[in-house]
Amino acid sequence: MKRLFFILTLFISIHSFAQEPAKYFNITEALRIESFLASDDLRGRKPGTPEIDKAADFIAAEFKKSGLGFLSGLENYHQSFSNIRTKFLSATATVDDIAVEEKNIIGFTTDSTLSVNETSGFAKIIINNTENLLATATEILLQNKNTIVLVNSFFINDFNKLKRFKNDGPKMSNAVVFILSNAAGDKYLVNLKNKVTETKLANVVGILPGKSKKDEYVVFSSHYDHLGVGKPNAAGDSIYNGANDDAAGTTAVIMLAKYFASLKNNERTLIFVTFTAEETGGFGSRYFSKNIPAAKAVAMFNLEMIGTESKWGKNSAYITGYEKSDFGKILQKNLEGTAFHFEPDPYPSQNLFYRSDNATLAALGVPAHTISTSKMDSEPNYHKQSDEISSLDITNMAEVIKAIALSSKSIISGKDTPSRIEKIN
Ligand SMILES: [Zn+2]
Repeated sequence: MKRLFFILTLFISIHSFAQEPAKYFNITEALRIESFLASDDLRGRKPGTPEIDKAADFIAAEFKKSGLGFLSGLENYHQSFSNIRTKFLSATATVDDIAVEEKNIIGFTTDSTLSVNETSGFAKIIINNTENLLATATEILLQNKNTIVLVNSFFINDFNKLKRFKNDGPKMSNAVVFILSNAAGDKYLVNLKNKVTETKLANVVGILPGKSKKDEYVVFSSHYDHLGVGKPNAAGDSIYNGANDDAAGTTAVIMLAKYFASLKNNERTLIFVTFTAEETGGFGSRYFSKNIPAAKAVAMFNLEMIGTESKWGKNSAYITGYEKSDFGKILQKNLEGTAFHFEPDPYPSQNLFYRSDNATLAALGVPAHTISTSKMDSEPNYHKQSDEISSLDITNMAEVIKAIALSSKSIISGKDTPSRIEKIN
């Protein structure tokens, strides 16, 4: 199968020599990029592996070939950061001289050891009354302050659910300790040990400065990470290639960058970004979103799984959160007279709007939407080893990418500005 595919690729490459160079959205180019990103050699592009670094270097080299610039503050296309994963090892505590059982101590810190008492300068919060402990705990965690929280034993069930909160993310500058105790906490001592693992991560970002509206950004994004290697399936395949999820979106970002760089007529600044660590918690897009001024971002086209036919067939795709801004209507208007149509997300119960890399910028008010063709109720290869290039419709995919380029025209030229999304918090 592989061999046949290789010959087919070669054939298409030779054939395309006769084509106009202006044909940017062709299957040869889509296959060239997909074949690298979704190859078994990249072993499923799992964050923290040498293989995902190869993918990042490939994307950076493509951005360089297109002549993209660096994001402000960066000296290359890699936007590097760390992710810290902590695993609880042990804890001891006394509150008002009463010993607390280890199972009643939960610490949120990215340090390997933590030792605090009432003189450490921690804020103290006592929860005797709350409608929703998990919501209250989330609010406390979001304040990023050193805090000790004494939770009334009445809330033992929710307290135990709090243990499931993932302690995985950027380095914390503070610590929050929750203790199940009814004491007043005038005196306390907590000692905690974690196993800490640091993973180096990088988004790959390139920009095309706008001609007249440099401070207005249009973002084209995807995620280039996937699930890595797992247990072999019945066919003996253990590699999660992620050809559709989301080598397809990444292929689109690379092709769009090349296209717009060749046109050189964008009035607004275009940012092309491929995120890391989407599958493990959206860490790449979260880091990116915190490091650009959201107020300057006028739109985000996040491209996820566009390699198969949508439920409406060829020449169609859906937009998540369609009703949250007029982004979709603008795109649709720009496609008038073509065979392509965008539809609102047909799987609203799956919450797709909040499940991809558009979510963080959208929460900051940016009209940030995901475009996809994935049949989320029936996509046979979703998050499976069988998500391989052979399962994609590359011809349709090239058409989807072309349609995305056309649909963004009036936003890139500065003529249309999508309405903002309602901010969260
Ligand atoms: Zn994905």
